Amino acid sequence: LRQALEADHLDAFLVLHLPNVFYLTGFTGSNAALLVSSRDATLFTDRRYAIQAKQEVSARLVRVRIVRGPVLEACSSVFSKAVRRIQRVGFEAARVSVRQKEALASSAGKQTRWTAWDGHIEADRAVKDSSEIAIMQDAADIACSSWEEVLPLVEPGVLETDLAAEVEYRMRRKGAAGPAFDTIIASGERSAWPHARASCKPIRKNELVVFDLGAILRGYSSDLTRTVYVGRAPAVVKQWYRAVLEAQQAARDALRPGISAAQVDAAARQVLQRAGLGSKFTHSTGHGLGLEVHEMPRLGKGEKTILMAGNAVTIEPGIYIEGQGGIRIEDDLVVTPTGAQLLTPAKRELLEIE
Ligand code: ZN
Ligand code: ZN
Repeated sequence: LRQALEADHLDAFLVLHLPNVFYLTGFTGSNAALLVSSRDATLFTDRRYAIQAKQEVSARLVRVRIVRGPVLEACSSVFSKAVRRIQRVGFEAARVSVRQKEALASSAGKQTRWTAWDGHIEADRAVKDSSEIAIMQDAADIACSSWEEVLPLVEPGVLETDLAAEVEYRMRRKGAAGPAFDTIIASGERSAWPHARASCKPIRKNELVVFDLGAILRGYSSDLTRTVYVGRAPAVVKQWYRAVLEAQQAARDALRPGISAAQVDAAARQVLQRAGLGSKFTHSTGHGLGLEVHEMPRLGKGEKTILMAGNAVTIEPGIYIEGQGGIRIEDDLVVTPTGAQLLTPAKRELLEIE
């Protein structure tokens, strides 16, 4: 990080986005500002986190300052005291509110020059090392086995929220810190909402049910989607399912270092277009996964990012047909030097639950 700051002629970088603070320092508290300069690094947080910060943050690398008021005010006082040493400061423009920026600028004074410096930590985070991949594999295993264990509970009459609770309970029992996002259980017509939260709707016979779930383990998320049919699937549903599965397989096969994110997206999209379902695939093929459920790189149309070994991404094409239902299949993969490694081995063929 310091090399990158120097290359861009910055004296310091102010980090407010908490996943970035965690990535750089190990601190997991919910209130923090991190100031990294060429000489030192200071983490500002409040008294609730005094003991925790001492345990989580290496005192050798980062000084912890416990402050009473807002952490940003404490940061600004550093700028005004170190006027000569810290003049050009990078900050996360996409993460700072207009009000915060104004407060920082006025307390730091005119001599401080502010430069939007977004995406640098996120770019580092997009390439996982082996210890991160090992955690992500465990988080993926928790999601897969929790989903498989809940399948026998799927029957007409059970509520979507019941299934969501059963999934989340199992993930917790397997060591997850919690669900990575509100578990999606969407049945019948609701399965055509790509981001439906579980509702009090009962599952009925002859419905599609979309499960989208993930576990957080030691900061890292997994993200798994499977779609099942309650009853015997009619031919048209089988045809839709086959098209989505084929699209998903095509994108998984395309995933390797050197390919662009847009090419991976196109691999899935072309299959659905050929099946006449292109217009029903209304989102991108996948997203980066790690400390956040959605991070770099995004696998979508027009995304020029070239993928490299260590990128952890989801592959999740889906189709959504209003009034009828939706089908999505999502796996987590890590790009390897020669291709990609699958983290989520849960059954992928259409399950008809009778
Ligand atoms: Zn998902
Ligand atoms: Zn996803």
